[in-house]
Amino acid sequence: MNVEPNGTIGILGGGQLGRMLATAAAELGLRTHILCPDDRAPAYDAASEHTVAGYLDEPALAAFAKSVDAVTYEFENVPVEAVEFLTNLGVAVRPGAKALETAQDRLIEKQFANSIGAKTAAFHPVDDLASLKEGLEKVGRPAILKTRRLGYDGKGQTRITAEDSNLSGAYEKAIEFAWAEVGAAPSILEGFVPFTREISIIGARGADGDVKMYDPPENVHRNGILKTSTVPAKVTAATIDKARKVTCDMLEALDYVGVIGVEFFVLDNGDVIVNEYAPRVHNSGHWTQDGCAVSQFEQHIRAVAGWPLGDPARHSNAIMENLIGDEVNEWRALAAEPQAGVHLYGKREARPGRKMGHVNRISVKS
Ligand code: AMP
Repeated sequence: MNVEPNGTIGILGGGQLGRMLATAAAELGLRTHILCPDDRAPAYDAASEHTVAGYLDEPALAAFAKSVDAVTYEFENVPVEAVEFLTNLGVAVRPGAKALETAQDRLIEKQFANSIGAKTAAFHPVDDLASLKEGLEKVGRPAILKTRRLGYDGKGQTRITAEDSNLSGAYEKAIEFAWAEVGAAPSILEGFVPFTREISIIGARGADGDVKMYDPPENVHRNGILKTSTVPAKVTAATIDKARKVTCDMLEALDYVGVIGVEFFVLDNGDVIVNEYAPRVHNSGHWTQDGCAVSQFEQHIRAVAGWPLGDPARHSNAIMENLIGDEVNEWRALAAEPQAGVHLYGKREARPGRKMGHVNRISVKS
């Protein structure tokens, strides 16, 4: 299914990623229709049309399906059933249900990565205190306990440190505490990866199978939330090749159409370990708005619409900095900075930890 100019891309989800996708679509002469449960959502300002409805509201989904030529989603917790419902109505949903379903469960995601030969942290499924203890014996300490589903920005996870020893029951207490921290929900225990850097690959696969990838940014997190993404990353060409190969294998195995964001840990010896992937445009790819002729948002819309993919070449160095909570209040000073692209999401309230916008600082390419 190819979508011609003036055609309509449906987007499930109305956050900032939807807003930037809608803006990119408009640049290509395409219309967008957002479906989202929120009364007010950042994407509505930028879209041609929106429907306020739950993702499982079948009459609303059916009407939405009639109004669009292809559908995508902008966050990974859209119910798979919504994608399947639209697909069964004959709508092209890109990426498809498999990419979404696999990304929604950290256990299935890791098993998938291993199945295509990619390395992950050691892991163990956890369903109760006994399996948590088993897992600690397998993956060692320190370890990270994460809920299988619905975690984001460091939420739904807790660390178990090496110091929690057997002395005076501290080990038992630490285990019980960790299990309570994740809400006693089905989880996965991961061994701690002693990484030197974190990078991500923002890749795209077109409807014709063409694959393109941007230069990987180096990502720094603060309080579990991405703070900066910097290109070029200080990693070797061999490391980049390894991460690109894994991404390419994932795209093929998932028969993927659209942009994917794959997060990697880089080890001392240059090897890469998959942390997770997002079946959508990714925060660490926001620098492409000011650092490349074709941004990740345009690239995703091109793929979903069945257009040729654009050139991902970088024309500058870039540092993307997220504006979190009150940091957005500095917008006037940021707007006055030379060589800086300011992108604000139109959110009305700057709550702590909330992504409010970002700034891309550009400099001469090295
Ligand atoms: P996640 O929610 O899985 O993306 O984790 C958020 C951040 O926690 C990552 O970007 C890493 O900085 C850190 N982290 C997560 N898992 C591990 C791990 N297995 N070993 C070391 N650091 C980790």
